[in-house]
Amino acid sequence: MRKKIIVGNWKMNKTVSQTIEFLNGVSEHLHDDVTFGVGAPFTALAAGVKHAEGLFVAAQNVHFEPSGAFTGEVSVEMLQELGVEWVIVGHSERRTFFNETDATVNKKVKALLNASMTPIVCVGETLQEFEAGRTEEVVRNSVAESLKDLTPEQVASLVIAYEPVWAIGTGKNATQEIAQNTCAIVRDEVRVRFGQAAADAVRIQYGGSVKPDNIKAYMSEPDIDGALIGGASLKIESFLDIVNAVKA
Ligand code: PGA
Repeated sequence: MRKKIIVGNWKMNKTVSQTIEFLNGVSEHLHDDVTFGVGAPFTALAAGVKHAEGLFVAAQNVHFEPSGAFTGEVSVEMLQELGVEWVIVGHSERRTFFNETDATVNKKVKALLNASMTPIVCVGETLQEFEAGRTEEVVRNSVAESLKDLTPEQVASLVIAYEPVWAIGTGKNATQEIAQNTCAIVRDEVRVRFGQAAADAVRIQYGGSVKPDNIKAYMSEPDIDGALIGGASLKIESFLDIVNAVKA
């Protein structure tokens, strides 16, 4: 049985003090039915890891090189020193605004796995691709390229987030049916490339305008193992409404 996994993606939100306030506010309400985490900005990671109880604090990006002339970037070792164990990789905002590609995502995933850290690998089609009926092709290709050359065991250990770009921050969430269908396609591509055991083990999240009132429907689908949540993860109250909604 795959353990469900709910992760907040704070994006460029929350200072150190706001991070501590959030973590202190949620810790006593979390439960073991589900793996919980939040993706915090780099500046809040050290304090976040220290104050996290009952959930992990993830980074939202990492560079694939161990060190060097990459102004503004952060390495795997730098995150490890803080006690960070999870990293969101290839979010569509990074792909759109910072030119990340499946090839750079693949390098980041490998760097993280080599350091025994867990990547949350984001894939998803744009509105144009969705309207052109290209979702399956785009998502299959992105899964294959982002996870290229990994072992089945490595793939089994990571998390994939299916996030249709047209549903992120728009309030236009994908229907339960679209989310399930595409998560099933993601799982099938893992099966084709890495075998049935990896496909059965890998955890796949849906992301895109997930809210307290729609989380339960997504989680009831057989191929959706959780959610990556932006806006609704920022406030303690709405994060806790989601936490309570996914209690077994
Ligand atoms: P949203 O963001 O929940 O605000 O749509 C999701 C994400 O970007 O991961």
